[in-house]
Amino acid sequence: MNEKNSFFENLYQVEKKGYVDLDELAKLEGIELIYSEHNRYKYEFAGLIKRIDGKYIIIINGDHPKNRQRFTLAHEIAHYFLHKDEIEEAAIVDDGLYRSGVADKIERAANIFAAEILMPNNLIDFHMNNFQGSNTEEMLVYVAKKLRVSQQALAIKMGIPFDN
Ligand SMILES: [Zn+2]
Repeated sequence: MNEKNSFFENLYQVEKKGYVDLDELAKLEGIELIYSEHNRYKYEFAGLIKRIDGKYIIIINGDHPKNRQRFTLAHEIAHYFLHKDEIEEAAIVDDGLYRSGVADKIERAANIFAAEILMPNNLIDFHMNNFQGSNTEEMLVYVAKKLRVSQQALAIKMGIPFDN
């Protein structure tokens, strides 16, 4: 009766606050999560994922702005879900532009999946329905705040031009 929930069941669980609580998702998945602060190379390191004795560990650059840290965590969780084989061989260490030793297509896949985890369409629709205004810029501000993501990340996800 104590069967482990699937990744998507856990993801659904952590969407209930109106944003995706990724710290909680990591916890439900049994991933150890570390926010590393006071890094020497503040912008050159975004995050990493490694596996030690069967346990996954994610380290996030805690010096980055909070929304950025959330995107990094989503990116590392994407590696965890999509790229277990790559993590078997070595840690995946992402620099500030989410480049690592693995192929670009793997990093692109992680970014796309990260955006899906952080900004699921059902939550975007939910907040858009509650938005009272009519202006796209204000809508981006409102929904991004609700989802705890950057306006830029949300604009990219929604296919809205963003030049700010
Ligand atoms: Zn990566």
